[in-house]
Order: sequence, then C-alpha cells, then structure tokens
Amino acid sequence: MENNKIIEIKDLYLNFDKLEVLKGISLDVYSKDVIAIIGSSGSGKSTLLRCLNLLEKPDSGIIKYKGINILDKKTNIDDVRKSIGMVFQSFNLFDNMNVLENCTIAQIKVLKRNKEEAIEIAKKYLIQVGMGDFIYSDSRSLSGGQKQRVAIARSLCMNPDVILFDEPTSALDPEMVSEVLNVIKDVANSGITMLIVTHEMGFAREVSNKILFLNDGYVEVFKDTNEFFENPGSPRACEFLRKVL
Ligand code: ADP
Ligand code: MG
Repeated sequence: MENNKIIEIKDLYLNFDKLEVLKGISLDVYSKDVIAIIGSSGSGKSTLLRCLNLLEKPDSGIIKYKGINILDKKTNIDDVRKSIGMVFQSFNLFDNMNVLENCTIAQIKVLKRNKEEAIEIAKKYLIQVGMGDFIYSDSRSLSGGQKQRVAIARSLCMNPDVILFDEPTSALDPEMVSEVLNVIKDVANSGITMLIVTHEMGFAREVSNKILFLNDGYVEVFKDTNEFFENPGSPRACEFLRKVL
C-alpha cells in the first residue's frame, strides 16, 4: 500500500437510468485527510459518498479501502460499514430507541461488544459531543442539533477509520449549526479521516486540508484548502464561490 493511502477511487461511473451522475471520478484519500466536498446541487456529491459506504453501486470503476476493492462481490458490506461510518443530513436516528440505545445497538449487534462495554463507550462519546445529560432521553424529544450530535456519537462508537458526512447541518435551524460544526471540528482534531459534503464555506476552510469541487459528475478541482481559497483554479469553481460566499 502506498504509504498512508486509505481510500483509492478510480474511474467511478454511475448512472441512474439514462442520467449520468458520476462520470469518471478518481480520488485518493490519505489517512487523517479532512476533505470538504463542495459543488452545486445535483453535481453528484451525495452519490459519491453513498458509493463509499456501499449504499449505491457504481456501474464501473474501483474503490479500494486499505488496498481492498470494496466493490468486489466477495467483500463483506458490514465489514466496510464498520470501518466507514456515515452521518446523514436527516440524522436517521432510531425513533423508537432512547439516545443510549441508539449508540449501543450496532456496537452489540455488529461489533459483538457486550452490553456493559457498549454502554461505557456510548457514554464516553455522548459526553464528548455534549449529550451526556441526555442519555436516557427519547430521541424524538431532541432538537435537530442534539439529534445530529447523537448521530455523530453513534458513528464514533463504532471506532471507524473514516466518517462520511453528507450536509450534516443543512437540516438544522441556524442557531444549531455552530454547535454541530464545533463537534465535527473536534472529531477532525482527533485524527479520524473525514469526507464532508458542506455548503458552509467558512467551516470547510477551517476544518479541511483539501477541497474537492465536483461539477456535473466530474472532479473539477481537488487541491489543498488554502490554495483553493486563494486560487480556485477553475472558472466554474470561482463562479461557485462567488455565489456561496
Ligand atoms: P448532490 O448531492 O450533489 O446534490 P446527488 O448525488 O444527490 O447530488 O444527485 C446527483 C443527481 O442524481 C441528481 O440529478 C439527482 O436527481 C440524481 N439522483 C440521485 N439519487 C437518485 C436516485 N436514487 N434515482 C435517480 N436519480 C437520482
Ligand atoms: Mg446531496
């Protein structure tokens, strides 16, 4: 394996019927990278993330995780999802469970941890995201910002190598955005590799080391964050920044 390359994407194509969504995406992700994925609505950002977590199946191309092609039929999807967590715009908590149960169920069922250990780990991460006072709360009773912080803790409980965030603050009321962004920054500082789809450019600039600008299913720009904001390097990226900044 090339030093610390953790994910290697090569020539990824995906169509939904006649709609071409990913048109040959290639991308290397190194351990501890925090990549902010930006681009207009419909450019393929969510589809790309969903391919990495095997929620979508590309038509062709290769996705290697630690050197293993995860698109191979023989790959165990659960093993991949254990290592590559995902946090969604809409939180996707289990409504019929309290906060603690949301954070222990996959640890028990997928990682086969015993209940006591799972609870201890869940509490640790719930405290880290500032939800330590809510462990027995009904997840339906929480605000959006609280739900998203629980979703992040739930993901951390699986000790993933990589976490994919798909617009983690887009469904939140404005006053809750910063509490969630601060938690994500905290996770980034802990050294977990992350790919984050976001429209929050200030946050992207602060948290990421690289920017991936997708345009119409292509990688239009992929470069160091500081360089990107100094010189986006493509007219389309400049135009996008003018609109969102
Ligand atoms: P983004 O996240 O950048 O807004 P998406 O990856 O969600 O873009 O979508 C890219 C394109 O694929 C859009 O045109 C969208 O309508 C289409 N698309 C996404 N998911 C599906 C699906 N399950 N079936 C059909 N079309 C889809
Ligand atoms: Mg999307």
